[in-house]
Amino acid sequence: MNDQRKTMWYGSGVGVLWCAVVGFVLLPIVCGCGAETNGSATTPAEQRDVKLADGTTVIVVRENGQPVSLAMPDGRTISLADGEVVVNDQLIIRSPTGRVEVHRKPNTVIDEVDQLPHLYLKEGTLEELLTQGFRGEPHIGPDNALYWSARICTNPNCDSQSMASAERPQLLINRMPDIWIGDDGKLVSANKMPSSLVSPCPVCGSAEFIRQYILPETASRQAELADELAHVRAARDAAMRTN
Ligand SMILES: [Zn+2]
Repeated sequence: MNDQRKTMWYGSGVGVLWCAVVGFVLLPIVCGCGAETNGSATTPAEQRDVKLADGTTVIVVRENGQPVSLAMPDGRTISLADGEVVVNDQLIIRSPTGRVEVHRKPNTVIDEVDQLPHLYLKEGTLEELLTQGFRGEPHIGPDNALYWSARICTNPNCDSQSMASAERPQLLINRMPDIWIGDDGKLVSANKMPSSLVSPCPVCGSAEFIRQYILPETASRQAELADELAHVRAARDAAMRTN
């Protein structure tokens, strides 16, 4: 894990950007496309109840075959007149076909995206640090040392990937020499405005192909969550059109 040979430093003379919020985590969600799926084989009229994530079973109350409200185990009745309602932190949507669907709230999905593992490398030792979500650049670790977001060069003509291990691609960090940790333990910068965000790859010399490194498990979960979000949005849109 702490193999310095497979990790390179790069970067010089760029300015402050630890406050910059990098959108790479949310980008696949914003641009996300996804197929709408419906896992149940029962017809809407046969659907008598739905189960929430917390185990609560909610009875679907119908009039003329169409769902009009939800009967809760505690005796409450919750109207479906608006097409959707949040119950026990779940989004319940009445579909145009008369089915009642249970989804996670979009914000719940986005919160999970924000917390997916992100890889940093420690300044000096290049030790790996996994964080819950992107924590800015650079990031002060639990040991009060400076950590830089792991990056890769995706230039197909770059030799850097020939040095990669089976476990990780060849990783880079964009070390900004004008940022350090001050006596108070907070980040200090010599410059107020960054002149550029990315320095060239030390192997091929190009900055064009430098990308944030996304862990494989994070990338696959991002794709699943993008699909989930697209599915919820499509269900909402469909419910709104018929409401
Ligand atoms: Zn390169």
